[in-house]
Amino acid sequence: MRKITIAIDGHSSTGKSTMAKQLAKTLGYVYVDTGAMYRAITLYALQKGYIGPNIAKPEFLIRELPLIHLEFKHNASKGFSEMYLNNTNVEKEIRTLEVSRYVSQISEIREVRQKLVLLQKEMGKKKGLVMDGRDIGTVVFPNAELKIFMTANPEIRATRRYKELIDRGADISFEEVLENVQQRDFLDTNREFSPLKKADDAIVLDNSTLSPEEQFKRTLALVEDRINTA
Ligand code: C5P
Repeated sequence: MRKITIAIDGHSSTGKSTMAKQLAKTLGYVYVDTGAMYRAITLYALQKGYIGPNIAKPEFLIRELPLIHLEFKHNASKGFSEMYLNNTNVEKEIRTLEVSRYVSQISEIREVRQKLVLLQKEMGKKKGLVMDGRDIGTVVFPNAELKIFMTANPEIRATRRYKELIDRGADISFEEVLENVQQRDFLDTNREFSPLKKADDAIVLDNSTLSPEEQFKRTLALVEDRINTA
């Protein structure tokens, strides 16, 4: 069967990666979580003290970008890929609220985007790929055969994210999570370089009231349609 490239963009905590993973598994495609790449660079900046409360030293981070090696390695027992930062597995560390707090500041740095977009284009040279992020359909793969733009009401997204973080043992309030979701929406949408925006030819999927099963069924139908017609 003909393979295609699927670009999934959208707001924070809309379930992009859950859906992208499920699609990749069903289709036998490669899945790339580009948010994990921006998160890993943010973790590096936090560890080095280049970002933090009242600290922002982007010039130090930019200088060290060539020293930052990112890699996805497949974890066979878990059935998905994990992010490695300079050969250390950071899959758990990059999902904390602390990283979420600073990631949008790091991802607006032009040099960071240039490095990651180049890596992402390289990963997608072969078709049979599902990539999720904020600029996949607009910048990374403007010619993707299928583009989906996911969104949902901010309170609903924050509720889902809050549950996830609490299940992982985090000590946070719902208000903190909602504030983070809204702040990232604002920064991601208003940044100068590759802001989050729907590609003209993307299909909007508002999952505020859709069950994950219904959403997946609709998306799979779109994929089948594109494979047969694109
Ligand atoms: O997808 P996730 O929520 O993990 O992404 C974390 C952050 O990384 C986003 O809020 C955004 O600031 C940044 N990002 C980006 N471009 C992408 C993927 C993520 O700017 N393609």
